[in-house]
Amino acid sequence: MKCRHCATPLSDAEDVFVDLGSAPPSNAFLRAEDLGRGELHLPLKVLACPRCLLVQVDEVQRHEELFCDDYAYFSSYSTSWLAHAERYVTDVCERLRLGPASRVMEVASNDGYLLQFMARRGIPCIGVEPTAGTAAVARSKGIETLGEFFGLAFARRHAAERGRVDLVLGNNVLAHVPDIDDFVAGLREVLAPGGTVTVEFPHLLQLVRHGQFDTIYHEHFSYLSLRTVQRIFAAQALTVWDVEALPTHGGSLRVWARHADPALPIEPGVAAMLAEEGAAGMGERSFYRGFQARADAIKDELVAFLIEQKRAGRSVVGYGAAAKGNTLLNYAGVRPDLLPFVVDASPHKQGRFLPGSRIPVRDEAALRAARPDFVLLLPWNLRAEVAAQLAYIADWGGRLVTAVPQLRVG
Ligand SMILES: [Zn+2]
Repeated sequence: MKCRHCATPLSDAEDVFVDLGSAPPSNAFLRAEDLGRGELHLPLKVLACPRCLLVQVDEVQRHEELFCDDYAYFSSYSTSWLAHAERYVTDVCERLRLGPASRVMEVASNDGYLLQFMARRGIPCIGVEPTAGTAAVARSKGIETLGEFFGLAFARRHAAERGRVDLVLGNNVLAHVPDIDDFVAGLREVLAPGGTVTVEFPHLLQLVRHGQFDTIYHEHFSYLSLRTVQRIFAAQALTVWDVEALPTHGGSLRVWARHADPALPIEPGVAAMLAEEGAAGMGERSFYRGFQARADAIKDELVAFLIEQKRAGRSVVGYGAAAKGNTLLNYAGVRPDLLPFVVDASPHKQGRFLPGSRIPVRDEAALRAARPDFVLLLPWNLRAEVAAQLAYIADWGGRLVTAVPQLRVG
């Protein structure tokens, strides 16, 4: 395999960041009628390029298989994510002085969770979203949504037929694209002169610092730092001129970029973040080794906890059928004997089964009825939100548990 950015050959032995065995795609939820059949399992091995230090999945799977029409992730079911999107819209409209004469495009616009706030301000906007189920929901909200994969070919066609845009944004999509260079070239191509690109992605620095190995899944092709993003953008004549650290997804970056123009200033936050990454060792190959032991320790601790509860006759159920939960449960080999069901607020997941572990997904009424001793919260990044929402489990002595970065009970 070669690095997807700089084409340096990658060694299956020397350049391993972490190897999580094999697992089905994290969003391939099963229906009851699928349970008699096997599932596609794909290797989940992540390598770090020794030259450009881009951290990337070993094999690029077929995009269409991962983002099928059944794709069950609807952004609007997370209230904290919705609030994050609304804050972003307020901020970006003020900072870039966007108004009814501006044009905005969101790549991977999902169910219109973000563009609805743009539309409310009367700003013309277009979503690009290849998964049919989520795109249909966005259209039902009145948001024009193109059902396509974004890349250079799409951007050229759009620029020629409908013109360029003043803001193109992509939240949690840069890490999800197999051909990151083509994607970034598309951002440049669709961007009007003087326009702005913003992208948000989970920060690799936080992933390593906090042992977040469960954020590694097939749909996630790259694990990004500011230094690698700056390098990839520069290769497409885009300049990163500001960066913000965000608390979302366990620690993300929001990068602001524009067409390269040496006459324009760069905000001091860019140098500061690069310095922080440098101080953490992200410029050295050694930073990208030793993560396996960290992942294994977290996995072992969770399995030991679940077995201990089972032996003691105490019940544990899961909460939040998020992709990261599937990585954790599948790597740990957790099955319904240790975790009989997982609760999720999304009706698109209820009644289905988690890929790989085949743990059933139920609604919250099932949790209230079961009165479990422990609720294992799989999307640990939502701990504050969910702890408030599930405060009532204390009525029967129930406690909340998270596994990452280490086991935390109560
Ligand atoms: Zn490389």
